[in-house]
Amino acid sequence: MTAGTREIAIVGGGPAGAAAACLLTKAGRSVLLFEREALPHHKVCGEFVSGEAATQLATLGLDLAGLGALPIHSVRLIQGGTATTTRLPFPAFSLSRQVMDEALLQAAAGQGAEIRRGVAVRSLTEAADAVTLDADELVTAQTVLLASGKHDLRGHRRAPGAINDMIGFKRYLTLAPDRMAELAGHVEVFLFPGGYAGLQPVSATEANLCLVVSKTVHAEVGKSWDDLLDHIAHHCRPFADRLTGATSRWERPLSIYGIPYGFVHRAPAPSRRLHRLGDQLAVIPSFSGDGMAIALQSAFLAADRVLAGQPALDGRRFAGQIRTATWLARTIRQPVLQGIAAAACRLAPGLLKTVASATRVSDPVQP
Ligand SMILES: Cc1cc2nc3c(=O)[nH]c(=O)nc-3n(C[C@H](O)[C@H](O)[C@H](O)COP(=O)(O)OP(=O)(O)OC[C@H]3O[C@@H](n4cnc5c(N)ncnc54)[C@H](O)[C@@H]3O)c2cc1C
Repeated sequence: MTAGTREIAIVGGGPAGAAAACLLTKAGRSVLLFEREALPHHKVCGEFVSGEAATQLATLGLDLAGLGALPIHSVRLIQGGTATTTRLPFPAFSLSRQVMDEALLQAAAGQGAEIRRGVAVRSLTEAADAVTLDADELVTAQTVLLASGKHDLRGHRRAPGAINDMIGFKRYLTLAPDRMAELAGHVEVFLFPGGYAGLQPVSATEANLCLVVSKTVHAEVGKSWDDLLDHIAHHCRPFADRLTGATSRWERPLSIYGIPYGFVHRAPAPSRRLHRLGDQLAVIPSFSGDGMAIALQSAFLAADRVLAGQPALDGRRFAGQIRTATWLARTIRQPVLQGIAAAACRLAPGLLKTVASATRVSDPVQP
């Protein structure tokens, strides 16, 4: 290692990057992590913490209850005017990403990682003996972990996914007390032509409304948040009822465009110096609620490989569950198939459990 070369640099302080920083510093490695946001911030996310993700976060030392996570025991699938409620086959939680991501970064800092906030890495160049990052200054590192989530770095753009035309939105709402009481312990999934919306409690009075809609339907309904909510309410009466008396938080919803759902990074000759994690490795459709578990699992697997001097992880590790979730995501955005899927779940209540299990991370870390 030449003078000035860092041992490990990580691009991005979301769940994948921060978890890897925790694990590598704990194993005695020197880690420098760049996070482009200077302060804790909200992210477009349903904030559903699956059983696997909860286990992984606990292994990393996070106290979910202490951070304000709320238990989620059931999923309510709503199509047209009908709801089907199924108990989840695992304990799950609702936790603000603003709180969770910050807690992970604090845990990494507590282990001794150097965290540079408010610094965006612009590009990275891989050579035979090191990787050079262009941040506020040029930084060379023996090993780099690319965990920039939805943001691609110049020269390292991800290939398109199987579904690329969805827009994601998120907004916190204050619900009427009786509606809030009905929502407690549940994640509600509303199906509507062109997409689906998830609603779950995030505090005693607030719920997170996170939805994805196709660009075509978004344009057809007038590209406005209020018109989009009217579109959902028109096709799904229980949605209108749930939002009766609700007030919106924040000036406007957060949004994200061009999510490459179904993307799986395939490396013909995996590098030993450049490791991809989280959404930079594989992107599962959001309704599965397992994106964070994949991000965390990829951090555990990548940390093991870095410590053992092995080549980078290939996204095909997660291809099976992503294929299943992508097929389901394609199916449930079509109105006719939405009706069939909802009817099938009503007739065979075990089906939702089977679907939930089929899109889970296989053999997740155990504490
Ligand atoms: C609509 C929607 C709903 C979802 N709902 C859920 C859900 O309910 N449950 C679930 O488990 N998953 C959900 N997901 C998926 C989940 O949000 C992601 O899989 C997860 O956040 C991936 O983690 P990550 O660390 O790879 O990336 P991110 O969480 O995106 O973190 C990347 C970090 O890198 C930083 N960064 C980016 N570029 C740079 C740069 N150039 N330099 C420095 N820093 C940089 C960013 O600021 C960010 O903090 C959802 C996704 C979407 C789109």
